[in-house]
Amino acid sequence: MITNHTCNRRRFIASCSLAAVAGLPLPSLSAEPAEPIIDIHQHTNYAGRTDEQLIRHQQVMGVTTTVLLPAGRFYGLDAKCGTNDTVLNLAREHPDKFVYFANEVADIEEATPVIRQFLKRGAIGIGEQKFRVGSDSKFIERIAALAEEFSVPILMHFQHGVYNTDIHLFHKTLEKFPKVNFIGHAQTWWGNVDAKHEQKVLYPTGKVTAGGITDRLLADYPNMYGDHSAGSGLNFLVRDPEFAAGFIERHQDKLLYGSDCDDILGVGPGCQGAQTLANLRKLAPNKRVERKILFENAKKLLKI
Ligand SMILES: [Zn+2]
Ligand SMILES: [Zn+2]
Repeated sequence: MITNHTCNRRRFIASCSLAAVAGLPLPSLSAEPAEPIIDIHQHTNYAGRTDEQLIRHQQVMGVTTTVLLPAGRFYGLDAKCGTNDTVLNLAREHPDKFVYFANEVADIEEATPVIRQFLKRGAIGIGEQKFRVGSDSKFIERIAALAEEFSVPILMHFQHGVYNTDIHLFHKTLEKFPKVNFIGHAQTWWGNVDAKHEQKVLYPTGKVTAGGITDRLLADYPNMYGDHSAGSGLNFLVRDPEFAAGFIERHQDKLLYGSDCDDILGVGPGCQGAQTLANLRKLAPNKRVERKILFENAKKLLKI
């Protein structure tokens, strides 16, 4: 059992003292969290964070099950994230805490054989797909065919002009693969909630105009889901809270909590995942919807 005494250990001094300075209660890890939470978006070796630091970070946030998303063989998802073998190993060491997806660079020959190999070994989804291809390209179609074969979802990082480009054409992929569930994430996914989104802006501010691409994809396609993780997911919740509250109510069966933060604290202003949790709890119209987004939707989608 882990107790507050862990705060005496040197590597947690920083987080404990930061919590004290911020006037926050010290993270108590002595009891099981009252309610289960699934975090659908974390990474191994994220910006150099150790497995022990990741485990602690998730416990402090109150997360009970974490989905580990590996990088492909190149690029480390641009954040030095670990590859398939690292997520498999950590999940095998802690099967009570972690599940994992399989991944590979989308436009190389090995993409499907490598992903297939890790799906056979127990991966429950594909991603994070964050590669320089079009969102309706033959590369994404090839991966979607594999997802269909294994009945697993694909998590997509949409970033204008860089990763899974041309989000306005993504509906073609959704239509070609109605049995495959896709999870949208990142700047261009969340920016396009706004019908007047300026595509080059990654972290837009101010009021949202209804009717954006993201809102329409969630409304029109049963196989489209949204991942609240990362600075972009948090930015959407805080830029126009009134709009965000309505959005959450509208898409309450399609939204999933994710953190995607690389800090070691798991609490306070330095932890984006903790901020996202707090904002989702604040904006959800009631406890039932909150539980859907923090746990039930992911449990159903991932069949865990
Ligand atoms: Zn991402
Ligand atoms: Zn964090």
